[in-house]
This record gives sequence, C-alpha cells and structure tokens, in this order.
Amino acid sequence: MSHSSQKSVIVIGAGFGGLSAAALLAKDGHRVTVLEKNSQPGGRAGQIKRDGFTFDMGPSWYMMPEVFDRFFAEFGKKPSDYYSIQPLHPQYRVVFGDGTHADITGDQKEDEALFESYEKGAAKKLRQYLREGELKYRIAMDSILYRNMDSIFDLANNWELIKNSPHVGVLEPMHRYVKKFFSHHKLQQIIEYNLVFLGCSPQNAPALFSMMGYVDMGLGVWYPEGGLFGVVKAMEQVAQEQGVEFVYNSPVTSLEVEDGRIHTVHCGDTKYTADYVVSNADYVHTEDLLSEQSLRTIPRKHWQKKTLTPSAFLLYLGVKGKLPKLQHHTLYFGTDWQKHFADVFDHPRWPQEPSVYINKTSATDPSVAPKGHENLMVLVPIAPGLEENDMWREHYANFILDFLEAKLDIKLKENIVVKEIFSITDFAERYNSYAGNALGGLAHTFFQSAIWRPANKSKKVANLLFSGANTVPGIGVPTSVISGHLVRDRLRM
Ligand SMILES: Cc1cc2nc3c(=O)[nH]c(=O)nc-3n(C[C@H](O)[C@H](O)[C@H](O)COP(=O)(O)OP(=O)(O)OC[C@H]3O[C@@H](n4cnc5c(N)ncnc54)[C@H](O)[C@@H]3O)c2cc1C
Repeated sequence: MSHSSQKSVIVIGAGFGGLSAAALLAKDGHRVTVLEKNSQPGGRAGQIKRDGFTFDMGPSWYMMPEVFDRFFAEFGKKPSDYYSIQPLHPQYRVVFGDGTHADITGDQKEDEALFESYEKGAAKKLRQYLREGELKYRIAMDSILYRNMDSIFDLANNWELIKNSPHVGVLEPMHRYVKKFFSHHKLQQIIEYNLVFLGCSPQNAPALFSMMGYVDMGLGVWYPEGGLFGVVKAMEQVAQEQGVEFVYNSPVTSLEVEDGRIHTVHCGDTKYTADYVVSNADYVHTEDLLSEQSLRTIPRKHWQKKTLTPSAFLLYLGVKGKLPKLQHHTLYFGTDWQKHFADVFDHPRWPQEPSVYINKTSATDPSVAPKGHENLMVLVPIAPGLEENDMWREHYANFILDFLEAKLDIKLKENIVVKEIFSITDFAERYNSYAGNALGGLAHTFFQSAIWRPANKSKKVANLLFSGANTVPGIGVPTSVISGHLVRDRLRM
C-alpha cells in the first residue's frame, strides 16, 4: 500500500469484531490503535480466573471452524499455529423436563438412530433437514455473510441468492418449518434450541436459520485449547504481529464531530485523532458518544421498538467433587418451553420454569479447575431490561441452584467453593450494552437481518464504521469475526 493510502484507524473495543477488523486493517497497511474499556480483550468473551478455576465468561461453543480458518489464512496462518481444537463427544447433552436425556454426537448414524427412537421415519427426515440446512449454510457463506450489501438492489443483484431463493425459506417462521419434519416435541426442541445463538425464538426466527442445525450436527462442535478466550488471545496476537497497538483500561468517553467527520476521540483527558473510527462497541452506546445527537443513524427512541437479543443470568461456579451427569455442554429444556420464550420476548419477567444451559469445560480441559473439582457456567436466558438488585440476584441464584438440583438430580449447593453472579446490570456496566442485552444488539428476526440490520457504516458521520454483533452480518462469534472482513472491505472501496 502506498504511503498516501495508508490511513490511521481507531478501533473502539476489543471484542471479536474489533480484533478481526483491527488485524485485517493493519494487514492492509493502516496504522491501527484499539481503545478498550476493560483490562482484557474479548469483550463478552472475557475470562475470569479465581482460586484455581478458569471460566470463559460468555461464548463457549466453537462452531463454523472455516470462519477461523479463513481469518487466519488472511495472514498466511492457520488456527493451529496458535491453538488446537478438539471435537466434543458427545457434542452436547439435552435433558428434558421429564428427566430423560439425549446425547447429540454429530455422528450421522448415531444421531439418526436417536431421532428414529422418538419417531418413526425421523432418521430420514433428519437427513433431509440437514441437507436443506447445508444448502442454506452454503448460500449464506458464499452469497450473504461475506458481502457488504447496502440496499434491496444488492440483494436483487445477488445471482447466487436469487437462483437458490426457493430453497432459502426466507419468510416462513422456523417453528412451522420444523413441524413439517418432526412431530415429537422433544425432537422439535433439539432442532430449535440453537436459535438462542441468534437471540430468537422458534416463533420469530425465519426458516433460513434452520442452517444452524447443519452448523452443529453437520459441521461439529469443538473445544479450542484455552477455551474461547484462547481464540481471543490468538486473534490479539495476530493483530499485534500486524503492528496493532492495544490500549486497555481506556473507555472512549466522546466522539467529537466536525464537518461530518469524527475529528477527535476522547478517552477522558486523553485525545486521539484518526482518519477512521471503527466502533466495536454497542451501536446505541456508540451513537450516544457523538457530540451531536442529530448525527445518529438510528434515533435512540427507535431502539425501543426493536427486538433485542435476550440478556442472561449467569453463574460461574467452582464445585467440589465430580458431576458426571453433566457433559461439556448440557442443555435443560422445560416441558413447556414456550412459556420461557414468552417470558423473554413477549411478557418480560424472571422465568420460573426456565430452560438452562450449563457449560463444564473441566469435562475436556483439566487445567480449568483444581483436581477433583468442576467449573460450571450456568446460563438462564432472560429478557433484557428487567429490574434487579443484589438481594434479588442472590435470591434468583438460589432458586436456579435448587431448580437444577431437582431437575438434573445433582448436588450443587453444598459443594460450591467459588460463586460469581453476572447479569443484566453487569452487561450494561462492563460492556456498555443497551438494556443489558447479552448477545450483542438485535435478535435475528427477518427485518433485523441482512440489509435490514444496522449497517456497518454511519449515514451521517463519514468516517464512522461499525464491527461486531450489533451490525452485519450479526450475532455470534463467527459472524462477529466476519464483520471485521466487511469493515476491511469497506475501506478498500
Ligand atoms: C453468556 C454468553 C454466551 C454466548 N455464547 C455464544 C456461543 O457459544 N457461540 C457464539 O457464537 N456466540 C455466543 N455468544 C454471543 C457472542 O459472544 C457475541 O455475539 C460476540 O462475542 C460479540 O462480539 P462483538 O465483536 O460484538 O464484541 P463485544 O464482545 O460486544 O465487545 C465489545 C467491546 O467494546 C468495548 N467497549 C464498549 N464500550 C466502549 C467504550 N466506550 N470504549 C472502549 N471500549 C468499549 C467492550 O468493553 C467490549 O470489550 C454468547 C454471549 C454471551 C454473553
């Protein structure tokens, strides 16, 4: 790159989207500085270490490995130059409301036999469901996720997409689509759970996202060495190798705009100037930082009408003794799980019959807990914006522990040696997350995806771009990594 086309770029936030954008822009020859509010990279994918226990604070499923392969390949590297990944077996355990369980292994024959055991003909149906999911996944990877699309015309000009649109199932709700394949409610639950990764319920997600079934059962679920934080550290290292400078404990406090461009980035008393600013921070928060509110692309009041991703009530637990009934990933689904979705999306309240996810990386990685102990992350999806205080959090934590002891037939409370609670107010305070949403902004309903999602370029501030789950392509670790590619491509335009 010639000296004149080399730009200075400030990236606000070192989440996956910030790390990806920073490394890729530096590879293109730009001078990149990352300003991160907290003391470590990763954003929602942070890490807590306490009394010999290590916890991934947020994401725990390593999926779509080709996204990471493609990111590292940009630098002539492979993920294995930084970390190894190991397939999980089983990939995850599902425990149903009646106490029975099913293990999904990702082995086609085993999973088909499991489905057939619930419903005659379900093995064949699963094969067909995953074939259709694979087709949608390939369309998404080849024609949607890695492309900047600014208008309906970009969608209409996307020949691959048009050609395959009859197979994509854009408008049909996911639940209706799934019911065509499986009648048994347990099979529907297994197939639909992964919509939580998109911040959706089976009622408000389009059937396009049945590709998530292929993502987990077809492509596999992996554990990266060092947990998801190991991936964060690898991406930080790649960025540093490209010359990116990281400044931690540096919250950006305002963005001063002059003549339609950000002129100065303020971190308290410290000032930075740059040709471009890429914000990986929450979209609402970023636009709150602008010196004039008329410069917002999305007026603040519009956010109240949107469907946010759920928040999460999280417990990080160090537990004495072993818990063999829990796998690396265990999902508990209540019998009436629609009620829990209604508590999250329709009538926000603290769930009393929740579905719960438990991550136990000590099943796979002995370094994350002292010998003879387990490390657990317990996650209950809850509505964003619910009220809470310390007393309520303790009360709800006790309720969830009693609930899990009863539903999973395990002993927890008397064996807990480390306990941390992380919930709505922590998401808001630690990450500046709007209404304390957990996954990063808007749920993937139809009109909050693709060209209808908040764009990665401000409409009013010429040098302001966005990366991460809040913008395109959307929620999740792989998609946040892809968002960095899209920002890099914007600056090449
Ligand atoms: C409990 C939980 C479990 C999840 N599980 C999975 C999973 O298994 N698989 C999956 O794919 N996804 C999962 N997700 C979602 C996934 O973690 C997120 O979608 C993704 O990590 C978001 O990345 P991001 O790039 O948007 O950045 P974020 O992680 O949102 O990071 C943004 C960064 O900006 C910083 N920042 C904010 N304001 C400022 C400021 N003013 N100045 C400087 N810095 C600032 C923040 O401190 C933060 O570091 C999970 C999320 C949670 C919370």
